Amino acid sequence: MSRAIRSEADPVTTMALPLPAWPENAPAAVSLTFDLDAEAASIGTALDAGQRPRRLSRLSAGTFGVTRGLPRVLEVLDAFDVRATFYVPGVTVQLHPGAITALAAAGHELAHHGYAHRRTDRIDRRTQREELVRGIEAHESVVGRPRGYRAPGWELTAETFGLLAELGFEWDSSMMGDDRPYMASAGGARMLELPVHWALDDWPYLGFDGEAGQLVDPRVPLRVWRDEFAVALEESRHVTYTMHPEVIGRGHRISLLRDLLASLREQKAAFLTHGDLAAISRQAL
Ligand SMILES: [Zn+2]
Repeated sequence: MSRAIRSEADPVTTMALPLPAWPENAPAAVSLTFDLDAEAASIGTALDAGQRPRRLSRLSAGTFGVTRGLPRVLEVLDAFDVRATFYVPGVTVQLHPGAITALAAAGHELAHHGYAHRRTDRIDRRTQREELVRGIEAHESVVGRPRGYRAPGWELTAETFGLLAELGFEWDSSMMGDDRPYMASAGGARMLELPVHWALDDWPYLGFDGEAGQLVDPRVPLRVWRDEFAVALEESRHVTYTMHPEVIGRGHRISLLRDLLASLREQKAAFLTHGDLAAISRQAL
């Protein structure tokens, strides 16, 4: 008789939440989220491999995200009067404090995205805690304590999930167990989850670092993202879109963001920061 294969990982249990009513009776809602990885992504990848960050060209592509990509993104958000949530690694906050202060001054929400963008499944518990604490300290030194968290590379361990609750985070946005906000339990903790998915992220379509990734016509993700909202409309639910200023902020791609926002506005979507979404979802508890 064969034995069932059991995962050694802690299981994640999920609890669905009732769908809330959206502000101003909007038929469905969206959140625009941006991961401002900048140089931190290649720093974290190098550290995870036990190396010093030395890929200067890759690092410069990250710098572009702040110097050129971010202003383009902000111009479009401003034109549509949309407030977004920016998940920012502590290293990015320390390298670009002026850009972070400007984001906050423009009314956007800042949230935690690790310190050196290290994948939680590649580091021990002590280093996972260090990534969280140093990230909090970096944010606190510039704009204030972040309330929400997103794991670098969306790789979340039960250990980090438990630490999030211990450190007082109000939500996580790294998992894919539903396409509506839900309560997740893992690592002895229970937390509000604002779910994501790779198909709703610009990176799998347009992220290429010289070794891995691909480059497609930006109209492909635009079509997919609009199709996802069409189903969200039928189901009166919410969609989180994820972008990276270094990816979406290239000249020929910014129309993807502009056309998406025009389409969402036309269909009367409610635009919520993740902090807004967390508050509305919690009311349904
Ligand atoms: Zn990231």
